[in-house]
Amino acid sequence: MPSRVDSQLVEALLRGERRALARALSLVESSAEEDRDAATELLEALHPHRVEARRIGITGSPGVGKSTLIEAWGTKMAEAGHKLAVLAVDPSSRKSGGSILGDKTRMPKLSNHANVVVRPSPSRTALGGATTSMRESIVVCEAAGFDTIIVETVGVGQSESEVADMVDLFVLLVLPNAGDEVQGIKRGIMEMADVVLVTKTDVDNQRAQLAVATYKSALRLMLPSQPEWESPVVGVSAYDGSGLDVFVKTIDAYFATERQPLVAQRRALQRRMWFDSAVREHVVSSVLSAPDVRERLTTHQSRNRR
Ligand code: GDP
Repeated sequence: MPSRVDSQLVEALLRGERRALARALSLVESSAEEDRDAATELLEALHPHRVEARRIGITGSPGVGKSTLIEAWGTKMAEAGHKLAVLAVDPSSRKSGGSILGDKTRMPKLSNHANVVVRPSPSRTALGGATTSMRESIVVCEAAGFDTIIVETVGVGQSESEVADMVDLFVLLVLPNAGDEVQGIKRGIMEMADVVLVTKTDVDNQRAQLAVATYKSALRLMLPSQPEWESPVVGVSAYDGSGLDVFVKTIDAYFATERQPLVAQRRALQRRMWFDSAVREHVVSSVLSAPDVRERLTTHQSRNRR
């Protein structure tokens, strides 16, 4: 069977050309049947060329300051010479019919930086589909030479754990009003966080420091997000830049050479989980698309409606 991989696309992508990157990302995001095979072949062609990047997940409820933080911190990283890809998962976009996450207008400075690509969440995809294409987008960005990949997600139920399962470091942003906030944040999400950032410390620093202390003691009562790592709580302000250096140092400490075996272990576990869920997804979709199953399902559904 002749290969459908567009070798020019692969070469242009490996050279880091922007248009090729946009085309490749659109291909892996597409849910059209005819694009799936081409996307799979493209990923196979890219696989040997990718250098694994630092994958960082950012989550927190709307308004907590995710995009403002990514803009401030990302610009710092890009100016230090890092190549940064910001990808977004927005499970709610299916309902609203559009996406705000990762929108370029939310990160104007960052999205215009030569070292950065900001990719808005593909809209109208099911959550499962969105996360599968996200994993594939990560591979495309790694092959294109990005060394840091930021996956932004809105804090809606299932999406956090799916994102936590595809990144090396999962960062939870929380507001600086600890008392009520800490009660409202689900324990499961706190336990997934490798770093907790208390945002907007410029508004009321004293209150923010109190929030930092409260989150620290709350975390002490919980299971660690992973072995040999104590999730730090850091106060940050995207406005005055305070705490951003500490955040950058925390990330460096996490990816330090001596921790590499632990990072590799986490990735191996994630690959196994990914493989299992891909197999399950495939089995379910082939069973459901079999004509006799479809017929029986339709009969069953119409009977239930009566
Ligand atoms: P997102 O929905 O989590 O992406 O939140 P945004 O980044 O859009 O921020 C929500 C609001 O908080 C906006 O009005 C921002 O200007 C404001 N904001 C974000 N970061 C800070 C900060 O560090 N300090 C202050 N004072 N306001 C901030």
